[in-house]
Amino acid sequence: MGTWDYGIFWKEAINQFKNELSEQEFAMWFNMDYETSGELSIIVSVPSAFYRDQVKQRYQNRIEAKLFDLSGQHISIDFEVKQRTRAEPQAKAEAVERAVPSETAQSGKHSSAPKAPSPVVTERANHPQLRKDYVFENFVIGENNKFAANAAIAIAKNPGTAYNPCLIYGGVGLGKTHLMQAIGNMAWKEKGCKIIYVTAESFTNEFVESIKNNMTKAFKDKYRTADILLIDDIHFLQKKNETQEELFHTFNALYDANKQIIFTCDRPVSELKNLSERLRSRFERGLNVDLQPPSYETRCAILSKKVESRGVSLPPEVINLIAKNISSNVRDLEASLTKLIAYAELTQREVTLETAQQQLRDSFGAPKQNNVTIETIQKVVAEYFSLSFNDLKGKKRTKAISFPRQLAMYIAREITEYSTTELGMEFGGRDHTTVMHGCQSIEQRLKAEPSLESTIQKLTKMVKDYNS
Ligand code: ADP
Ligand code: MG
Repeated sequence: MGTWDYGIFWKEAINQFKNELSEQEFAMWFNMDYETSGELSIIVSVPSAFYRDQVKQRYQNRIEAKLFDLSGQHISIDFEVKQRTRAEPQAKAEAVERAVPSETAQSGKHSSAPKAPSPVVTERANHPQLRKDYVFENFVIGENNKFAANAAIAIAKNPGTAYNPCLIYGGVGLGKTHLMQAIGNMAWKEKGCKIIYVTAESFTNEFVESIKNNMTKAFKDKYRTADILLIDDIHFLQKKNETQEELFHTFNALYDANKQIIFTCDRPVSELKNLSERLRSRFERGLNVDLQPPSYETRCAILSKKVESRGVSLPPEVINLIAKNISSNVRDLEASLTKLIAYAELTQREVTLETAQQQLRDSFGAPKQNNVTIETIQKVVAEYFSLSFNDLKGKKRTKAISFPRQLAMYIAREITEYSTTELGMEFGGRDHTTVMHGCQSIEQRLKAEPSLESTIQKLTKMVKDYNS
């Protein structure tokens, strides 16, 4: 090539984007490798055509502007699609460290010649393990889930390339299973991929059965033939050591063969307890995206969509009423809707604002704060973090205890009327400033770690549900 080398500007540009963008955004879109320079141009490689189109649209201008800032020259970017194989050294990707880990760099024998797309599949039957309504068309995208949804679409279009493995995490009823199955449905219908969907619980039970019946080979073979393996709710694997071990090997076999693996979990992997370190590191490899509770606007959009898809109609004020009162998760939104629709069908009457208010009074159930005791909060939080109640209340100040303790203080401040002095008493006779400090430190962390928000919401819900 000529005498141009803008690699150094590229590297610096990438470093700056890493600081400017959220970790999630960066991990998701800056999966590009510098290839070479030409006259006033840089060629970078990306893992797929879909990815290239997305990155072009989202970032080309921004990257070029940054290169201009750094070099004072109008350097343009060209994207080249390059299927990555595990055998390929990633030296160029230093700046984009999340690329394929080098640990498995030897397994070149599986070099991933892209499979010819299967001949246009004309309307495949529904997949036996996937719900047919869990498709992207039925998934409303809002601020709370757009990263996860975009990643999911990218994976469905290009399984096994850019985001492998992928972990989708978030609280109950926020759409993890829906999104995961939407990937399966799309890749099944459009690409003819072999999809295996299983909950971590079934995976465990099946594994145990296979040991009992001397059928472990069949079990292993089954899971290793998947093009896309979907394992739902991996938090279930906590303490299941042998199943973890088995999953670890399944993971490696699929990963080395460039097969796509997707997990869901109700919390960030860092908060899972009793999980082998090596399995944890596999979950954390690749892309981790979270689902947050939907905003009011998104809740309205979801409700409207569900109403439409059920072929009924509800007045807008009823939709707003539900959206305003139920903010925890989408499953609860749907449950309210189902209740109203059932009522309308039974009584053969239109649903009005008044009937909706009446019918849903219980579901809205004003949070009865006076019922929430500090002890309940302490018990729920202690259990969630696998600590003893006494440790959480007590004097120990190790990190493993003080964070959950601060979280409990924070939640207590949010949902009860107790003063910091009273709370201090309940938390092992501490001073009120300790409680204030604890709450502030959680507020700080919330800024840096948005995923903490969903943990807090989840715990709060558990506290409120505790006595019911
Ligand atoms: P999770 O697995 O996170 O507990 P689910 O995927 O089971 O949650 O979702 C609960 C319900 O909410 C499902 O019926 C799903 O279709 C619906 N749902 C969740 N998020 C959305 C969304 N963004 N748009 C439409 N429906 C959604
Ligand atoms: Mg689920």
